Amino acid sequence: MSVAAEFEAANAKYASTFTKGDLALPPQRKVAIVACMDARLDTARALGLEEGDSHVIRNAGGRASDALRSIVISQQLLGTREIVIVHHTDCGMLTFTDEVIRGKIRSELKQDADHIAFLPFGDLEQSVLDDIRVLKESPLVLDVPITGYIYEVESGKIVKVGSSQ
Ligand SMILES: [Zn+2]
Repeated sequence: MSVAAEFEAANAKYASTFTKGDLALPPQRKVAIVACMDARLDTARALGLEEGDSHVIRNAGGRASDALRSIVISQQLLGTREIVIVHHTDCGMLTFTDEVIRGKIRSELKQDADHIAFLPFGDLEQSVLDDIRVLKESPLVLDVPITGYIYEVESGKIVKVGSSQ
């Protein structure tokens, strides 16, 4: 069975007891979360989120610049007024450089990806602080509270790294 087929089975079970069909489109808790796509980070369970609570924008590293399009939509059209950034320990973004992945693409795909910034980082804490600053300084992002955390994949805990206030 493919993973997609497994999802169909899991969803049939989920939908059989589903009772939240009347939720509003805008996130009830008016927050947008930018988090790494890492499989070990379950934002709903780790942060206590229910359906309808929040936007969760995920990408490799939980990088702010990569999430900008979604953040602007979240704020301008769907009313969110707070941002939370979540990076995490043992992140894959700590393991490579732009040069490494561009070289891999060159040798495996015979393509040039030199124009793409893959946004890896060498310092986890600094990556969170950098992303708070990117959003704070962006003229396209409202002046809202921004808080950055590191999620520890080893303990399940979040550790606050910084905030815009
Ligand atoms: Zn990661």
